[in-house]
Amino acid sequence: MAKALKIRVAKDAGFCFGVRDAIEKAREVAQEHGKVYMLGDIVHNERVVSKLKQENIRVVDTLNEVKDAPVLFRAHGTVPELWNKAIQKELSIVDATCPLVHEIHDEIKKLHTENRKLIIIGDHGHDEVIAIQAQVPEAVIVASVEEAEALPKIKKAGVVSQSTQMIENVQAILGVLSMKIFDLRFVNTVCFPTRRNQSQIKEIAPISDVMIIVGSFTSANTKRLHEVSLGLNPRSYMVENAEDIQDVWFDKAGSVGVSAGASSPDDLIQEVVEHLKNLHVKARV
Ligand code: SF4
Repeated sequence: MAKALKIRVAKDAGFCFGVRDAIEKAREVAQEHGKVYMLGDIVHNERVVSKLKQENIRVVDTLNEVKDAPVLFRAHGTVPELWNKAIQKELSIVDATCPLVHEIHDEIKKLHTENRKLIIIGDHGHDEVIAIQAQVPEAVIVASVEEAEALPKIKKAGVVSQSTQMIENVQAILGVLSMKIFDLRFVNTVCFPTRRNQSQIKEIAPISDVMIIVGSFTSANTKRLHEVSLGLNPRSYMVENAEDIQDVWFDKAGSVGVSAGASSPDDLIQEVVEHLKNLHVKARV
């Protein structure tokens, strides 16, 4: 006997408003000016990027390649050096930086004026973290508890976090820092769409037999959501699209939960849900 799976989709799965607005802006500018340039991909999602290419949204490596059209600065922020270069070159700049990322920049600058040693809880090499670090003269990036443990004792420090950090990772690192820092000021800059996404996964994962997290394997945000889900449900799988789903994952499963990274478009999530609707699995007994 076969029966359909019960499907629970996280209410706010997929694009956060910052990414949604940036893509909307890129489309508007490309329509108005015939094209728009971006330094690097707008989101870590191959499908979105290749679709946007067809709409004359061009990805370039340097500002020297920007000609006859505006350059759009992406949602997760841009280092001041590039802003200044673009201004010097008299390029038309479209700022698509998420307002919540601007807030992180403001907060770290404020902490700097308080003469604190600055710490960013975030991923090394991630564009958002690089741009946060570049707002102030000296800031240390701490990605893990081990890295926090390796820091010396500090008298006065200010801490912000990358917007998409896992709350648990931030808490664990803060736990270590609070033992080393006498005067510690932490500004919680994990953004609310990230917190909401993580908390919806925490609701769905324990009550679903299987969890599917939709997103690109290159997206740090999707990987993190997968980690959150795995912590609560060992049958959690990350997929880039419906084709990645394997029937064997649903052996004796009666329900499936679905969430997605902030860089996963709605049509991709819908495609996965449709695939799951058509997946009939063996009944539990
Ligand atoms: S993840 Fe948060 S901070 Fe980053 S673009 Fe989306 S809403 Fe903005």
